[in-house]
Amino acid sequence: MLGLSGISGENVCQNCGARGCRTVCEYCGAGLGRQEDQRAERDALEAFQAILMQASAEKQAQLLRSGYLPSSGELLIEAGLRILPLLRSAGDGVPQAQADSAQARLTTIMLRLKHAGRAASDPRVVELHRALEASRRAARHDFVLGLIIISAGLALLGGLIYWLLRR
Ligand SMILES: [Zn+2]
Repeated sequence: MLGLSGISGENVCQNCGARGCRTVCEYCGAGLGRQEDQRAERDALEAFQAILMQASAEKQAQLLRSGYLPSSGELLIEAGLRILPLLRSAGDGVPQAQADSAQARLTTIMLRLKHAGRAASDPRVVELHRALEASRRAARHDFVLGLIIISAGLALLGGLIYWLLRR
């Protein structure tokens, strides 16, 4: 088997090469080995969430990008619901890198749910969809606001240079 399990049940992470972790890599959040059934997938998701919640904001951004995702539709929905507080739209104070990564993870989750044929009529899937849309709108809003601030700054700088040259 390609699981590379050692005698102690420890795995080598295929993503970052770290050793010594069991179900989920503590360094990059990737799933290790194979999760044979939904119960094993739930354990792996719990392990990932525990690592995520204890990480610094900077580390969280990285974990959200490479982090373990279950294959069962039911657990994918749960994985999505659990990162909603990290989205930009959830409120101010979520660092941008973290919010971007949470949005990327939710985008992947939605694609997989679609692929798995999860009914878009499931109220939880609808909630995830709405949250993703709100996050994208908030990101666009941030982008436009950034452009306005940069433009205003440039205009001010231009005015200052003009004023200095005219003296
Ligand atoms: Zn790893």
